[in-house]
Amino acid sequence: MEKLIITIAPNGSLPTKEMNPNVPITPDEMIVDIKRCYDAGASICHIHARDKNQKTCHDPEYFKAVVSGVKACSNMITQISTGGRASFDPTSRLQGLQADPEMASLSVGSCNFADHVYENSPEHIMMYAKAMKEKGIKPEFEMFDLSMAYWGKKILEAGYSFGTPWFNIILGVKGALEFSPRNLLAMVDSLPPGAKWNSIGIGAAQLKMATHAIMWGGHVRVGLEDNIYYTKGVHASNVQLVERVVRLAKELGREIASPDEARQILGLPLLNK
Ligand code: MG
Repeated sequence: MEKLIITIAPNGSLPTKEMNPNVPITPDEMIVDIKRCYDAGASICHIHARDKNQKTCHDPEYFKAVVSGVKACSNMITQISTGGRASFDPTSRLQGLQADPEMASLSVGSCNFADHVYENSPEHIMMYAKAMKEKGIKPEFEMFDLSMAYWGKKILEAGYSFGTPWFNIILGVKGALEFSPRNLLAMVDSLPPGAKWNSIGIGAAQLKMATHAIMWGGHVRVGLEDNIYYTKGVHASNVQLVERVVRLAKELGREIASPDEARQILGLPLLNK
């Protein structure tokens, strides 16, 4: 089986220091925390921007500071979020692309979350994909539901992506599709030929999702964005969550991909060559 790509999602939009003091908020905190995760085995970092009050935002200067800081201390793959929790305004959501990351998340459909509609219209999905294509940024297709493979395939057909088709299956968001091995299998079966998949389990589903992905040939994202606990009621840190996946992978016979090995799997250009 190919080597395992570990993505770290250190901060996300929602967790605050009051919820878990280990959540990195400032760019400096992010860079230090991401470097620890890189040293532990993560090869991609997924970045959200926060303002001074810890509130989620799409501030391009924040993204630039974190992307350049990570590049200065590692050869990790940087991935910025274009998620909609800070604002549904499409121009705002694309501001992180100014930081010139190698990748960006792209939600390929709409669904309900716990208290709102997560809205990603076909028009906006294609607009985001085109903007990424123009900057040579590879999209990661975020899928919360079976129907979402459709727009990932449309983007591939339009030539707005490059390299290996790369989908991220997210299960366990309240209001959206819950985690079960059966749901994960159905999501994997919905992907186009040749696609590879990353995986996110939210909350207590993080460990189960990671274990299934390791066994079934997928890849794993962990981090405080998706789960703030190590075990019930015990705060996690980002590096602890990465270290646990590395241990699990070793036990289950999967080696860990370095950032350049991850680039080869994803079809991203290698750096420094
Ligand atoms: Mg995110």
